[in-house]
Amino acid sequence: MYLKPTNFSGKKVILRVDFNVPIIDGTIQSTKRIDSVIPTINIILKNNPERLFIISHLGRPKGIDINLTLKPVMEYINRYYNFTVGFSTLDNLQYNNDRIVLLENIRFYHEETKELPTTVQFRKRLTGLADIFINDAFGCCHRSHSSIVGIDCPEKYIGLLVRKELKYFKGYLNIPGKKTLILGGSKVGDKIKLINNLIPIMDNIIIGGGMAFTFLKKMGMKIGDSLFDEEGYDMIEDIMINADKHNTEITVPLDFNCNDRFSNTGNIINRPIHIGIEKGYIGLDIGVNSITLFLKKLEQSDIIFWNGPMGVFEFPNFAVGSRILMNYLAKSDKTTIIGGGDTSSCCQMFGLEMAMTHVSTGGGASLELLEGNELPGIEFIKKIQKINI
Ligand code: AMP
Repeated sequence: MYLKPTNFSGKKVILRVDFNVPIIDGTIQSTKRIDSVIPTINIILKNNPERLFIISHLGRPKGIDINLTLKPVMEYINRYYNFTVGFSTLDNLQYNNDRIVLLENIRFYHEETKELPTTVQFRKRLTGLADIFINDAFGCCHRSHSSIVGIDCPEKYIGLLVRKELKYFKGYLNIPGKKTLILGGSKVGDKIKLINNLIPIMDNIIIGGGMAFTFLKKMGMKIGDSLFDEEGYDMIEDIMINADKHNTEITVPLDFNCNDRFSNTGNIINRPIHIGIEKGYIGLDIGVNSITLFLKKLEQSDIIFWNGPMGVFEFPNFAVGSRILMNYLAKSDKTTIIGGGDTSSCCQMFGLEMAMTHVSTGGGASLELLEGNELPGIEFIKKIQKINI
């Protein structure tokens, strides 16, 4: 079930990883997702396979898109690690003497994400590449994509990164203590849908970032041009009733720092919720009174899960809320589990990664685990082998 030192000689291996890293002008902005799977690659190499194919996706291409090539990842690995990785497309497999081959972005194929008449054949083709399939793509384990649930090799294992992530997200749910979830970011619709399932598990849910406006509009606040989700709006009443039933506190911001444009600079103003945000202005960060309130709630918590930044942290003027809360958690001795690509990048940007209990490589996957759901990628490996974990 779990990858361990053994003997792979004479066998070919496929390793599915999540190298979906932010790349701007060919430069990787955060290498965490790559660095995190190096221990798995090292174990596989020690097991002495004949060949190792590495599969990943990058971004959301609609067919072949050279802007989303994985070549910068290959170059990074070859520059900083003591093994050499070759590069090939799936259609024109070429590996010369390369023992490790990174395949081009698997999402260049529609069959990766879509159930098409050709998908079965595509999955067979991937399976045919190797004898062993290893999944270490934690960030993708909640998706039933071909390279996650369709590579049906006779031997299958879960990699070290996925194992570590499972330990944190499953393990800490059962530890006694007051649990708080900080929910922010901009994927408002996706996250609002999960709240009802998270309410029975959490003692407190702090809503910040772009999430907050949909809640506050329901409470009668004017939100100007801030992020808003229509579908989520219709669920708020039900969420509040459910929270009441489970005695779970929902904490929303008291004020916001707003701008008249989506930018770091402009006419920056603070607006309390009772006055609201006028048209032409966008709430881009939580304000000072919200920070004070949220800090009080965190002081009363033992285990904190955090998914989604409190503001547009990419703009220094609107990174303050996330920075102060993260600094507080980093200095505390509380259990702090950070999930989500952007929240992890934010933590990394503030240089606080090492001070947290765990910084996850997966956002959606970690939320699914918190909800108590099984992940299709893990089930695929578990089911076939009929082993309980
Ligand atoms: P998510 O992937 O849902 O965690 O969203 C992360 C993104 O949310 C980051 O890129 C932030 O810039 C963005 N974000 C946070 N707060 C706001 C806000 N108030 N308005 C718009 N975007 C926001």
